[in-house]
Amino acid sequence: MEEFDFENRIVSPTEIMGDNGDDNPLRPRKLEDYIGQDKAKQNLAVFMEAAKRRNECLDHVLLYGPPGLGKTTLSGIIANEMGVQMRITSGPAIEKPGDLAAMLTNLNEGDVLFIDEIHRISRAVEEVLYPAMEDFSIDIITGKGQMATAYHLPLPHFTLVGATTRAGQLTAPLRDRFGVSLRLELYTPKELAQIVNRSASILGIPIEPDGALEIASRSRGTPRIANRMLKRVRDFAQVMSDGIITLETAQIALERLEIDELGLDANDRRMLSAIVNFYKGGPVGLETLAAAIGEEAITIEDVIEPYLMQIGFLSRTPRGRCITRAGCLHLGLELPDLTESQLKFD
Ligand code: ADP
Repeated sequence: MEEFDFENRIVSPTEIMGDNGDDNPLRPRKLEDYIGQDKAKQNLAVFMEAAKRRNECLDHVLLYGPPGLGKTTLSGIIANEMGVQMRITSGPAIEKPGDLAAMLTNLNEGDVLFIDEIHRISRAVEEVLYPAMEDFSIDIITGKGQMATAYHLPLPHFTLVGATTRAGQLTAPLRDRFGVSLRLELYTPKELAQIVNRSASILGIPIEPDGALEIASRSRGTPRIANRMLKRVRDFAQVMSDGIITLETAQIALERLEIDELGLDANDRRMLSAIVNFYKGGPVGLETLAAAIGEEAITIEDVIEPYLMQIGFLSRTPRGRCITRAGCLHLGLELPDLTESQLKFD
């Protein structure tokens, strides 16, 4: 079977080479510029205002949802709106309790500490995080055996913003220590079109409204993908025509990039076809499917599936993944004899 490259595909919701990284000029800095996610935004605005009025820092915030939806961006906005600095780290980067202690003791009063992939911190690090979150203090032990000395260190007050793809991956004690928990949803094409227009104006790219909507509809509900596609389509528009992104240039460009009108690329199509061709449409267990297509189960679960489920092409049943009728029709595949559990979810 052909090699899958889920890592660097243009519709990957996680960062790939060529994305802008930390100094991304497309990141909104104010809550009012953050498009969509109205529920999360409205609640957050109230919590921030209340904290400001009390002269306190914001309670710890847990942001969860698929990659590329704006968790890091929202954390930066919180810091900006609260008038403090943001320090960024990630669960896997904090190897030892000492690494976390060093970060915490270096914070200034009120700062935001953003921990991406917070579900991946180790147990030992988590133990240090509890008193830090609850009492703004840490206990450090230096030396060994009889020479060991324990220090109780007070910390500045800070807001921990934790990001994770699924809140269920966190241990209950850690989850309970977040006062605010916000779930980010996939964006609608209309919201994404607004994001594309905003980004185009920042980057000085001329774009027509249906060109923006076309990019938006193929971006799998994910701003990171929309921004990336905008840049690629710009390349085509510049080389093929006068540089203006119209409906037609967007369509031609995305066709050339092999992204279909719903944002599926060759890898999605191959994964769905594998379910039909090897497992008669499913149900197929996640691990089995992962092995069949040479991808990690967690990548399928967090990165590939959410969108396919949202558009109703894939269903998750207790016995595994099934392709739906709509998925088969879209791929032009022969409908397998759908089992009862598939039909129930169709
Ligand atoms: P996450 O941390 O969830 O993976 P990011 O915060 O890094 O996602 O967002 C990815 C990109 O999408 C950012 O570069 C930002 O420019 C853009 N983006 C995300 N959310 C929004 C939004 N609500 N409005 C405008 N742009 C957004």
